[in-house]
Amino acid sequence: MTYNLIKQRLENNDTIILDGAIGAELEKKGAKMHKDLWCGTCSVESPDLVKKVHEEYILAGADIITTNTYATTPIGMKQYGFEDQINEFNKKSVQIAKDAVKNSNKDIAVAGSVSTFGSLYKFGTEAMKPGFKEQLKILSGEGVDLIILEAMSSQADIVETIIECSQESKLPVWLSISCIIDDKTNKVMLGYNDTIDSDTNIYEDFETSINNFSKIHKGPILIAHSDIEVTGQAVKIAKKKFNGVLGAYPNRGHYEKPHWKFVDNITPSEYLEKARSWVEDGAQIVGGCCGVGVEEIKAISKLKKNQNV
Ligand SMILES: [Zn+2]
Repeated sequence: MTYNLIKQRLENNDTIILDGAIGAELEKKGAKMHKDLWCGTCSVESPDLVKKVHEEYILAGADIITTNTYATTPIGMKQYGFEDQINEFNKKSVQIAKDAVKNSNKDIAVAGSVSTFGSLYKFGTEAMKPGFKEQLKILSGEGVDLIILEAMSSQADIVETIIECSQESKLPVWLSISCIIDDKTNKVMLGYNDTIDSDTNIYEDFETSINNFSKIHKGPILIAHSDIEVTGQAVKIAKKKFNGVLGAYPNRGHYEKPHWKFVDNITPSEYLEKARSWVEDGAQIVGGCCGVGVEEIKAISKLKKNQNV
């Protein structure tokens, strides 16, 4: 039922509002971050705070909230000694999100975040498949309304692998990827850089990525976990190459171990203007990733045609 409403609104050219960051909001509320699993442990250790974050995004106008499962991938959890709790952590996160929706009395969709967190490239993409499939199965089984493949910061062949694993899913599947400008050529590339002191990770030409991914993935493609400025450029490129639904949820600021720094100093109303430009350029789904919080989501919710939905 809930996804039908999203689908209808997309078909009517309305703008869908996603939530913002979960980890940074939890940190602001004093939740303890795990050194390896980051905010992945919060659903079990501080479920009330996780629910509060979801509730605040719903109040701010988000149409979709995302489960706190970005960091609870089976691959990551096995690596960090949580192999016995994969089911527990992922199920708990879905339940918290569903509780938040229930309490709101609104028709809000729950997106299950299936991510590439902890996937080590050196072991090859074949080794990643069981983990991707397992997280997909747990989240789907717990009743999420849609899946977002958060393949942000991943190499193209990892993105293709996670898409392949999602193809048996009966749920709507969205795909998130990140991009970066190559300073040498000034071209938009698949890749990322979220810390000021680390090297830039550049994988391949972004146009090539969009071409290749759209051959195997028909659901929406979202540009996420990327710098605000490059996101705007990437939306324009993607619009030319991809006929499907597009979205954008960039970062604000950057990561400086062990915390997210809010250095961009962009106000919620400036964020709204940026989001408006992505919508004008063809994005139909907007939200926020790291560093984007409740105030920004509240600001961009003005982009919905019908403010009451
Ligand atoms: Zn991010």
